[in-house]
Amino acid sequence: MIGLDLEGSRVGDAVFSGATFIRDARLSGTTFTGDARFDGTTFASTAYVGGTTFTRAARFEGATFTGDAWFDYATFRGNDVRFDMVTFRGDARFDMATFRGDARFGGTFGGVASFEGTTFTGNVLFQGTTFTYAAWFVEATGLESAVLEGVRVRVPANMDILGEFPPYWLLEAGVDGWLTLRRAAASDLARLAARPEGSCTMPWSVCPEHGNTLISTGGISRCRAPECGRTWGYGRDATPCAELATHRLVDVEGNQALVCDGHALAARSELTGARLEPLTP
Ligand SMILES: [Zn+2]
Ligand SMILES: [Zn+2]
Repeated sequence: MIGLDLEGSRVGDAVFSGATFIRDARLSGTTFTGDARFDGTTFASTAYVGGTTFTRAARFEGATFTGDAWFDYATFRGNDVRFDMVTFRGDARFDMATFRGDARFGGTFGGVASFEGTTFTGNVLFQGTTFTYAAWFVEATGLESAVLEGVRVRVPANMDILGEFPPYWLLEAGVDGWLTLRRAAASDLARLAARPEGSCTMPWSVCPEHGNTLISTGGISRCRAPECGRTWGYGRDATPCAELATHRLVDVEGNQALVCDGHALAARSELTGARLEPLTP
């Protein structure tokens, strides 16, 4: 097929399994009242699926999107929503989309994977998924219990384009320059929340030796001091500091806070009338 234009219309059962759309597929604002089957479909140009409502099944398994795929503001009401074994060669944008039932994703995100403000209320599975470029899950909700199986992320040459994953998803260094994405275990969360007695009271963390030098992307933090080399497998700058307190920070109004060496160092460069007193053991 050359292209597809169902923009704004109401469609019952739609079966486009295995079809190839050479030109744009225009499905913006379409309401599918029945099952929508695009399994194995090739979208050789841009797929416009923004604001579309899928009332029942939305089957895109095995589909190939050669151009960008716009699913922003789409609503998936059914429980049979499948984006597994999908190849996105361009950007895949699910910003502000709503998944009310179960949804599964898998395959390759070759461009930007964007789930900004996306809402998930059912079971979510990411299986055999490869993020080769930046992935943005900023303010996505409902992914706390998402199942992550064989999800890997390429380490970009420039760490800044790794994107942002949910804070309870952890990236671990894997083989061949790939990172593995997994959900934080209870022990991780405990570590993130733990604050030993006598610890620094700052709500974010710094490098214990160099202070305010952290660069964080995609759930990994590193110190940018060239001689340091410290990295942390979590968003350290968004985690309450748990280092041993060594100084008392007293501001001009007399407010006091116990801080660690790293925070004392960071504070020194920003002191305006405040002072630091070493704690005497
Ligand atoms: Zn450092
Ligand atoms: Zn601290």
